[in-house]
Order: sequence, then structure tokens, then C-alpha cells
Amino acid sequence: MMAKNSRGKRPCSICRKWFAPDVRQKGRQRTCSPACQNELHRRQCENWNRKNKAVSKNNYLAKKLEEAESLQTSGKLTAFPSQTQKSPVLPMEVIETEYGIKPAIIAQYLVTQVISHTKEKIREFP
Ligand SMILES: [Zn+2]
Repeated sequence: MMAKNSRGKRPCSICRKWFAPDVRQKGRQRTCSPACQNELHRRQCENWNRKNKAVSKNNYLAKKLEEAESLQTSGKLTAFPSQTQKSPVLPMEVIETEYGIKPAIIAQYLVTQVISHTKEKIREFP
């Protein structure tokens, strides 16, 4: 049987400390303190941003592919604009000739993702 003084208590979503929620905020309080509440909010925003970022990245790639396709079908695409390419510089002409414009764009996109991901990882461990 639970001890009487632990009735209504719940673990904090952030620090896992057991706390007694404010009766006025019945059922809504998930953290023990304003500091933990802020942290919870920060994490929720972070998750949301991360999801949103992933979506916009996918849209970016889809848009790139769409653009390339319309340029290709209209015959405007003569060569991959490697002079406008930011680092990493890939042998885009070779990839494009061998596999087509879409794999070339996807390859560039993936390499860029891997590099930025690696940079983020490096920042996490100074
Ligand atoms: Zn807490």
C-alpha cells in the first residue's frame, strides 16, 4: 500500500523527482518547478523544430528534383551548374552523365547532410 503522503504525487518529467502537483493545475502539471517547466518547454520546442527541420529538408530535396526535371524536360539543362556549387564539390558532371540528374542531386544532398551532421556532432563534443 502506498504511503499516505505520496498520494497525488507524480514524478517530474524533467528531473524525475517526485512532487505534489498544485491542486489548482490538476492533471496538467508535469514538472516540479518553474525551472523544470522551462526545460520541458525548451525540449518540446526542440522536438518540434527538429521535426519541422526534417520536413523542410525533404521539401528542399523534392523541390530541387522537381526543378531539375522541369529544366531537363524543357531542354534548358545543358550541364550541371558546378560553378554555383557550394562545398562539398562532387564530380557532378560525372554522376549526372553516368546516372542522371536526379541521382546527382540526391548524392549532393546526402553528402551535404552527412557533413553538416558530422559538424553538429563535433560541436556536441568540444
Ligand atoms: Zn523537476
